[in-house]
Amino acid sequence: MSDLYGKSTVHLERMKSFGEDAEKVDVDTDEQMPASSPPASVSPEPSSSAIAGTDASNTCKQGRGKSRGKPGKDDTNSGGKRVSDLPLHGTVVSAHVGRNLNRLGHEGTLHIKGTGRILQSETNGNYVTIHPSKHIQDTRCEDTLKIARKRRPVTVDTSKAKTSLEALKLSIKQLKWKEFPLGRRTACDIYWHGVSFHDNEHIASGQVNKFPGMIEMLRKINLSRAMRTMQELFPEEYDFYPRSWILPEEYQQFFTQIRMVKKNDATVNSTFIVKPDGGSQGDGIYLIRDPGDLKPMAGSQAKQAVVQEYIQKPLLIDKLKFDIRLYVLIKSMEPLEIYIAKEGLTRFCTEPYQEPSQKNLSHVFMHLTNYSLNVHSSNFVHSDSQNTGSKRTLSSVLYRLAAKGVDIKKVWSDIISLVIKTVIAVVPELKVFYQADIPPGKPGPTCFQILGFDILLMKNLKPVLLEVNSNPSMRIEHEQEVAPGVFEYVPSPVDEEVKVGVIRDTLRLMDPGHKKPSVFQMRAGGFEHGGEIPMEAETQERSSDEGGALPSLCLKQVYPKYTKQFNYLRLLERIAVLFIRFLGVKGNMRLGPTAFRTFIRTCKLSNSNFTMASVDILYIDITRRWSGAMPDSREAGMGLQAFVEAFFYLAGRRFKSLLLRDQVLSLLELCESQLELQSGVEDRRSASCSRALPRAIKTQTLGLSNPLLGSPAPLRRAASQDYRLHHRLKPRTLRANVEN
Ligand code: ADP
Repeated sequence: MSDLYGKSTVHLERMKSFGEDAEKVDVDTDEQMPASSPPASVSPEPSSSAIAGTDASNTCKQGRGKSRGKPGKDDTNSGGKRVSDLPLHGTVVSAHVGRNLNRLGHEGTLHIKGTGRILQSETNGNYVTIHPSKHIQDTRCEDTLKIARKRRPVTVDTSKAKTSLEALKLSIKQLKWKEFPLGRRTACDIYWHGVSFHDNEHIASGQVNKFPGMIEMLRKINLSRAMRTMQELFPEEYDFYPRSWILPEEYQQFFTQIRMVKKNDATVNSTFIVKPDGGSQGDGIYLIRDPGDLKPMAGSQAKQAVVQEYIQKPLLIDKLKFDIRLYVLIKSMEPLEIYIAKEGLTRFCTEPYQEPSQKNLSHVFMHLTNYSLNVHSSNFVHSDSQNTGSKRTLSSVLYRLAAKGVDIKKVWSDIISLVIKTVIAVVPELKVFYQADIPPGKPGPTCFQILGFDILLMKNLKPVLLEVNSNPSMRIEHEQEVAPGVFEYVPSPVDEEVKVGVIRDTLRLMDPGHKKPSVFQMRAGGFEHGGEIPMEAETQERSSDEGGALPSLCLKQVYPKYTKQFNYLRLLERIAVLFIRFLGVKGNMRLGPTAFRTFIRTCKLSNSNFTMASVDILYIDITRRWSGAMPDSREAGMGLQAFVEAFFYLAGRRFKSLLLRDQVLSLLELCESQLELQSGVEDRRSASCSRALPRAIKTQTLGLSNPLLGSPAPLRRAASQDYRLHHRLKPRTLRANVEN
């Protein structure tokens, strides 16, 4: 908080000068695709970083092999440059070599820097060449490699970056990392995809900036479903998402509910916004005041839509409606790590706002804040300043509100809370996608992703979630009409300031040189009920910037930082863990009837009142309904959402007298304890028949190697305690606890 409002200015000028410096770092053309590029050894001016990385190891190999026979070549590294001439890394390397050789204690010896050759004086005053022992050579090479490894620049494959390329390039330059714009034959540390996890196929290592399934999960219908499930369990906590209906399947419900409300109170004049499922940038969106005004939809794609309660009283600035674009980084899903950008954007409408009436329903410049629409309004104001114009920084808007006496700390903490809860709602399904694409045990990359949250502030300052974009625009230029009818992309300082900061700092956080705390360290920290999280104090965000030349991180960790406040909401994730456990064949996303039966049997959920025949009927009934709701689904069987419905049903049957969330929690605990017992039996069995197995293999047979598949019982119990504790302490407000 203090960072945002006290010192939020990212030093653009400073950033630019970093960019210029970094320009001196060459791209190592040897490793670019296509493969026909010339080898590194012919590169006339290898960058110091390239030498520190690949070339140092080459030097070592040469030292052991053919370079012996070609003493003249020993003086150069593979880039054709003398080691002693190298500006930074080279000097360090030769200094180390020197120290190692001097430790030999040869009297009357002269070593030639960087060559591995030692000249020893003979009694006649001449020098003869001697070669240090293999051991010494190896030590030297190890030292050199250690330094090289330490200094090797992080490599980023930008070949699929698409419209984020400009901002990405600037970020990489500022970090002095190494870009591979055409891809690379060998693995890169980071792959930056413009659209989806699958932009590059067959990535076996490194990190990708997209999660599998994120696009699907954040489409309007799926997001609405996920939010609604959470609303069923935690209605108060998830009241920041407008009431929504899914079309066409809930058309009848929508129709009857709205007609009924109107019948009971004729003065109620609600408005609804209809959004096509696959739409973006305001495409196909329209407002209605009566269910009968829904446009008939043709074609299978157009049928899918969300109709949502329209927020009639948004907060206005200069009489204009605006929304907030906030960038959120999911740094990791297991353990869950969420960061929020301290700076965001606000997008303004271009026609003064009036509450919806039959007359103004079609005024898109009044009701829709999309930049892509408003940029075509004659009222759109392009501005290089951050606090004027139709696109401004979030901090400038919050300053302005603060000046009017608004408690912006509370607004900000409500926004943090909204973000964490939303991520918690989508993570369960994402985990199913993740294990299907990268099954445990199979080589694959790890993932992270920047999301774009669109948030509307209501007149009473309550934030409302409009949608989450899996591919928020990272363009740093905007379209401008340079002559009548002629549009061009021109640099946009506001976009550049915000977006370059977000990308650069995401990269800094994903720096593979950073040591990650283990899953269990993170979890144990999160679940403990020891001290309170220090809310006021800004924890120092880690930075990979050793020299301190870069600004402090513009991304702020909010999870696991606020684990204690939100952990109790992660019930569905535990259901997803059960679901994944019974999926069986790796790569599946749906449960077959046999697997569902196994789940019921293993967790001992059937009895004389609920026979296995009833189980089969339940499976068929729910699966059939869900396959109708998701006609485009590729696999047959029970998906997670259908499984959740079945789980809720089973919980309701078994623990009738409780609230839904307590029913679900009780059933979860029952299932988890049964599985634990089973694991214990299997453990004993496998211990008796495979005493000789190494420990790691034994752990795998118990499904414990993957934290997804079996979080240890004490940790799960702590999560349940979190839930109970939270509900005992309620309604002491969460908000007070999440300010930063
Ligand atoms: P798209 O992906 O097409 O941009 P959004 O859900 O973001 O779809 O909606 C487009 C715009 O419509 C938003 O930027 C916002 O201005 C407006 N809007 C969307 N939902 C609501 C709502 N429930 N209440 C009021 N305005 C809304």
